[in-house]
Amino acid sequence: MRLTFDADVEAFRAEFAAFLEANLPEEAEAAERSRSTGHVPGWARRWQRSQFDAGWLLPGNPPEYGGRNATVLQQYVHVEELSRRRICRSYNPQGVGIIAASLLSFGTEEQKLRWAVPILRAEITAALGMSEPGAGSDLASLRTRAEPKGDHFLVNGQKVWTSGAHDADVLLTFVRTDPDAPKHRGISVLLIPTDGPGVTRRPFASYTGPEDKDFNEVFFENVRVPAGNLVGPLNEGWRVANGSLGHERTLMWLGEAERLDAVMRDFTPATALDKDWYATLVMDLQALRLLGSAALARAARGEQDVPALSVLKVFGSEAAQRALERALEASGPDGLVHPAATAPYHHMSFDDDSASWFNRFARSFGGTIAGGTSEIQRTIIAERVLGLPRR
Ligand SMILES: Cc1cc2nc3c(=O)[nH]c(=O)nc-3n(C[C@H](O)[C@H](O)[C@H](O)COP(=O)(O)OP(=O)(O)OC[C@H]3O[C@@H](n4cnc5c(N)ncnc54)[C@H](O)[C@@H]3O)c2cc1C
Repeated sequence: MRLTFDADVEAFRAEFAAFLEANLPEEAEAAERSRSTGHVPGWARRWQRSQFDAGWLLPGNPPEYGGRNATVLQQYVHVEELSRRRICRSYNPQGVGIIAASLLSFGTEEQKLRWAVPILRAEITAALGMSEPGAGSDLASLRTRAEPKGDHFLVNGQKVWTSGAHDADVLLTFVRTDPDAPKHRGISVLLIPTDGPGVTRRPFASYTGPEDKDFNEVFFENVRVPAGNLVGPLNEGWRVANGSLGHERTLMWLGEAERLDAVMRDFTPATALDKDWYATLVMDLQALRLLGSAALARAARGEQDVPALSVLKVFGSEAAQRALERALEASGPDGLVHPAATAPYHHMSFDDDSASWFNRFARSFGGTIAGGTSEIQRTIIAERVLGLPRR
């Protein structure tokens, strides 16, 4: 089967390709590398801004928010063109994909202009403060406390795994504002500037290597946050949490498809055993594209099928992890050499796209943990896709 698009979608693709041709930063210009998902070098800020101004940053948005009111299928080919060329559109992905999007869905007009637009234009960067030491999968157990005090909130508590926080200007922070309410009901969302008194960010290395410092612990000690920084209604943060992670979910599987594509491209099977798993990899990629395209067609018809996206997440992220584990095993001790390149350098990609097989395998756990672990997704599939009894 060959999937094709209508002429208007192909015209949209051609227009975007022409924009990339004319505007992509040169390699010499992009010499400074991003050190975390909150750090956007000057050239990458200009690149993001040029996409915003031309309506190509988030094409589904209206023009004032970096888009051109594109349809779901047009948004798909936009991501496809970026993936095919290994182009990163923003080096603050959580800022653009989750935080600005949440502000546009739940923020006031003033908050959109004050925070969302500067994040989209790469004038400031943002990090996501959801998880805590005792609240990851069970996010509703979060304990960071924000006491309403008239014109401000007083915040005390701790977040963890806060990607890019040490380089970010603001944190979208999930806090408990009513400790007496049932746990899903007493949560609110605050935008907290990172440079204020009482905010301490402690970056720590991931297990891929000491130089990979993207995670942070963030501590709040009597931090005064203006009441105007409340995003969405008081005590209705759960709705924002569900909305925040829902953004762009329809297209999230494309990232895993891209990862599978990259293993296919970068690994050459030599032995019969390698050829065997490589064939599985090819089939997994076809199956993911088929399932993803069916989900896309439903979304294009305006049908909401959120639980089905859990199937795509589990399947795509685990297929990529399996393939990367095989590639690491097949490459023997060389796979552990760090740093080692497994793909040609590309100045518009994140550097970990071409790192050692160990590094690439280790990073694949981001796909099976972040945004809801595979176990949590399987529970959703069991209950809401297969209709099995709830525990
Ligand atoms: C690369 C990466 C980036 C991240 N960035 C951010 C960020 O920017 N901001 C942020 O707030 N967080 C971030 N996180 C954190 C992420 O959201 C959490 O790691 C995730 O929600 C899981 O929570 P946890 O680590 O506390 O694990 P836990 O919830 O403690 O889970 C531990 C294990 O128990 C299993 N488990 C838990 N509950 C159940 C259950 N009910 N049924 C079956 N199994 C269960 C899990 O599947 C897992 O295997 C990031 C994580 C990663 C990997």
